[in-house]
Amino acid sequence: MFRKKLLHNDASFEKKPDHKLSGFRDISSIFKAKSNESVPESDVESSPVEKPSIMFESDSFKPSTSKAVKLIQEVQKLTDRTIKPFVDYNEGRLFYPILSKIGEAQDNVSCLDDLVSDGILDKKIYEKLIVCPIHPDTFSSSVRLYCPSCHSMGVEKLNLFEHKKCGYITDSNNFDFTDQANSNCPSCKKQIKNFEKEIRVPAMWYQCNDCSEKFDNAVIKLHCRKHEHDFDTNSGQFVTTFSYKLKNSDISINSDTNQIKDELLKLLRGFNFDAKLNISIKGKSGNIHEIPIYAKSKTTGESILIFIRNQPTGIDQSDMNSILVPKLDIDPTNTLLVTVSEINDGVENLAQHYGIHLISELDFTQILSRVEEFVSEWHSKNGGKK
Ligand SMILES: [Zn+2]
Ligand SMILES: [Zn+2]
Ligand SMILES: [Zn+2]
Repeated sequence: MFRKKLLHNDASFEKKPDHKLSGFRDISSIFKAKSNESVPESDVESSPVEKPSIMFESDSFKPSTSKAVKLIQEVQKLTDRTIKPFVDYNEGRLFYPILSKIGEAQDNVSCLDDLVSDGILDKKIYEKLIVCPIHPDTFSSSVRLYCPSCHSMGVEKLNLFEHKKCGYITDSNNFDFTDQANSNCPSCKKQIKNFEKEIRVPAMWYQCNDCSEKFDNAVIKLHCRKHEHDFDTNSGQFVTTFSYKLKNSDISINSDTNQIKDELLKLLRGFNFDAKLNISIKGKSGNIHEIPIYAKSKTTGESILIFIRNQPTGIDQSDMNSILVPKLDIDPTNTLLVTVSEINDGVENLAQHYGIHLISELDFTQILSRVEEFVSEWHSKNGGKK
């Protein structure tokens, strides 16, 4: 029932930005949510609004576990599991388009912030926009360069080129080595095959087309595009935009990790496992866990969890703890932690104690073959039976 209440809450929310969306408040209830509670998208969009009076009794409504879960599922689909803002520069508005997928207004930032306080999302500075001090509601500004002596905008960037081989030096006005047509040095006539390697740029400066003045630093102004005036860079105001990244995310932005996942998946399927990537698994407690790789043998019904952790400072106890919770709750036949990082002291004992198999190798082909070894040994040991 609270689904409808919340839908109504959405409507009231836009008018009352200070009203906290209690729907995202309680993380424990999010993970205790029954899986069938998630609201289909069509339902969200088409449900009629009922009984407006209920909406303002904020103490009485239950958290919307379904919306939070839905949002988490949507974030999991994103490549780096990060919700990035969309900026309308002219109108000075910030959007998070993903919010529309859970039936929220796209500018309802507070529901993202609520997930931050719940410990589900990490909030990071995405951009610092410099905005006009007089019109801070418009985000669109551009950089303009002016001549310091006559204030003309007709400023040209010039530089020197040096042909390393023969030592010939010229300025870009006289002979532009970057021009495709100028493939031969005018001095030694040799062909320039690789600009980056053969040409040095020893100096760079500006020149004004109007007064011919040469200078090292042009005057830099910011230009308020909507209201068409300049302002000083130091007088500009900052607007900070934020991105939101799903915490404890096992999907690495590192493509190697994604590659290894795909390879592991293939490997497991080769052993007749039904293997899945980045899947939500409900444990014995009813809590839902995010598992990078989960596979179940089609022949024996035995299961395996594979976690991938890479830490520049090495795998430590806290990495283990984060694995331990889902491991104990889901209780699979085997649990692997694979990593290209080092294993810190004490972690091995902990892993052994809880039956977590550690595989630490320098590169992922080695990891793959160790996993293959492990799975094939397990496969043959049980003779296909438990
Ligand atoms: Zn302005
Ligand atoms: Zn000038
Ligand atoms: Zn030359």
